[in-house]
Amino acid sequence: MITIGLTGGIGSGKSTVAQMFRELGVPVYDSDAEAKQLMTTSPDVKAGIISLLGEQAYDENQLNRDFIANKAFSNKDILEKLNAIVHPVVREHFYQWRKEQSAPYVIQESALIFENGIQDQYDLVILVTAPLQMRVERVVERDQVSQEKVHYRIKNQMDDQLKIELADFLIENTDWEATQKKVNRLHTTLLKLAEPRF
Ligand code: ATP
Repeated sequence: MITIGLTGGIGSGKSTVAQMFRELGVPVYDSDAEAKQLMTTSPDVKAGIISLLGEQAYDENQLNRDFIANKAFSNKDILEKLNAIVHPVVREHFYQWRKEQSAPYVIQESALIFENGIQDQYDLVILVTAPLQMRVERVVERDQVSQEKVHYRIKNQMDDQLKIELADFLIENTDWEATQKKVNRLHTTLLKLAEPRF
């Protein structure tokens, strides 16, 4: 089994592409969703977050998302410490999940593969891109947030140009049908690459 990373900046369409692969029968691990889940279900993560941010990080057993987001996005040091608590647990959870899959290849969707310098954990990495203004418009529409907020979040991510140099496959997601065709083609390529060689 080979392991494929799927990444892309905010609003590029990673989750959309991930869903297309799922519909082709490919097991996809959504790191962001799993990380959020583990922040309430993993006792180690929960204890780490409380010791970093205090009891206010949780209401009862529910994650206090706004409180955590405000702390993490206004202070780089806190964000790094938070990532250091959550990422190793997600990584281990992903490895366990992968063991349970039986497929020629699996995909891990993660927003920050290149930012975190973890591309070597994958056999190959797919990058999803779209023009900046299109990404901003998509996120404004999807999350009902201001353009400024989206620009601010994008500024914290690595420039697409640098990511393109590091990626193995590129999906320019500007048109739904063209993206679906690219995903279908890439699926065929990845199945061939995953075939055992003797
Ligand atoms: P984030 O990093 O914020 O999670 P993402 O990269 O996963 O974003 P998606 O959630 O897949 O991006 O897409 C952002 C929005 O753009 C969604 O509302 C999605 O439906 C829409 N979208 C994605 N691809 C296309 C497309 N090719 N044409 C039109 N709309 C699209």
